[in-house]
Amino acid sequence: MSSHKIVVQKYGGATLADAEKVKSVAKRIMQLHRSGIRVVAVVSAMGKTTNQLIDLAKQVSHRPHMRELDMLLTAGERISMSLLSMALNDLGCPAISFTGSQAGILTDDAHFNAQIIDVKAFRVEQALNENKVVILAGFQGVSPNTKEITTLGRGGSDISAVSMANFLKAERCEVLKDVAGVFSADPKLEPKAKLLPELSYQQLEDMTTWGAQVLNHRSVKLASEKSVAIFVGSASDEKEEGTTVSTNSTGLAPQNAIAINSFAKIFEVELKEESFESFQIFLQKNQMGYVQLLSQQGKKIFITAPDETLQAIENYDKNNPCYAVLSPKLSSVSVTFSNSPQLEDEQNCLKMMKSDGLEFLHQIKSNLGLHFVVPSDSRIRAISALHKLCVS
Ligand code: ASP
Ligand code: MG
Repeated sequence: MSSHKIVVQKYGGATLADAEKVKSVAKRIMQLHRSGIRVVAVVSAMGKTTNQLIDLAKQVSHRPHMRELDMLLTAGERISMSLLSMALNDLGCPAISFTGSQAGILTDDAHFNAQIIDVKAFRVEQALNENKVVILAGFQGVSPNTKEITTLGRGGSDISAVSMANFLKAERCEVLKDVAGVFSADPKLEPKAKLLPELSYQQLEDMTTWGAQVLNHRSVKLASEKSVAIFVGSASDEKEEGTTVSTNSTGLAPQNAIAINSFAKIFEVELKEESFESFQIFLQKNQMGYVQLLSQQGKKIFITAPDETLQAIENYDKNNPCYAVLSPKLSSVSVTFSNSPQLEDEQNCLKMMKSDGLEFLHQIKSNLGLHFVVPSDSRIRAISALHKLCVS
């Protein structure tokens, strides 16, 4: 490899939502390339393309076959990559686009939720050495075992970007979005949410595992394991404002609550057998998708999943042999702390909820977080009650 600096940039769907936006992303990449940096741009599908493709699949098929769904969904990122490459070439900036399989992103066989098992991005290296910008379709790979095209789960372009940054030993992986960085809560739900300039991997991992949609949680875990430096910032604004996550990041002041995140929909499910794995295999066999396990106590579990999977779980024949949905109208509201929460932190959370007349049904602890299961209709009020802990 040459001695040029390499930067991997990931552009989210909202930043590529129409032709004008694609052209302005191309301009930004061109400028970076002109400054002597080798650029790999990982792209998501334009705007709401992925959701629209899933809707389309559902209009054609009651329960779309996962292999075919992957074939369909990967088309979304292919549209973005080819358009962006055209725009760059028009600007006089040499560029080439690759699908995940062309770029050597190798995964296991799990359609719709594949894990990357290896990266053999030799074509990417070669194109960079020829001074081309590489545009990589995010969210996809190929299974060397089945030879099939796979997708990495919703929001999976972040995983593609971190994997590529790790393979290329890039300076950093920039995740560029239509928001300025990572906030202390979703600014659409909590007007007092503030930008968090620096986070540790563990803090961001807790946040994304518990509903922060700013980054795919598996990508944060991977970045942490491989020490890939991440910057999350705005695609349209090139000021250095944003959120930095690296091995040097110590995060914010100790013991303070730093962020509130939430899953709008979680289910409490009773398993007929105690194994979560057999539940997951059952869902997979029935083309229902994958769920994220939030907590398990014996046969009772709390889970979350994309809407279509939760819907399929709820609609499935009530007398099925594997599980029963106990409560479908639940949400989680989570507080992530700088360090492991102490008894006092827990008491503060309870006080905040109580003073707003809020109750929770179940509490879950993680390394850096306290997580409350609440009825869905009190979710927004619980977010703002607990967010008071982050601004004080
Ligand atoms: N387009 C895919 C999705 O919407 C992947 C991504 O955006 O990262 O989930
Ligand atoms: Mg997307």
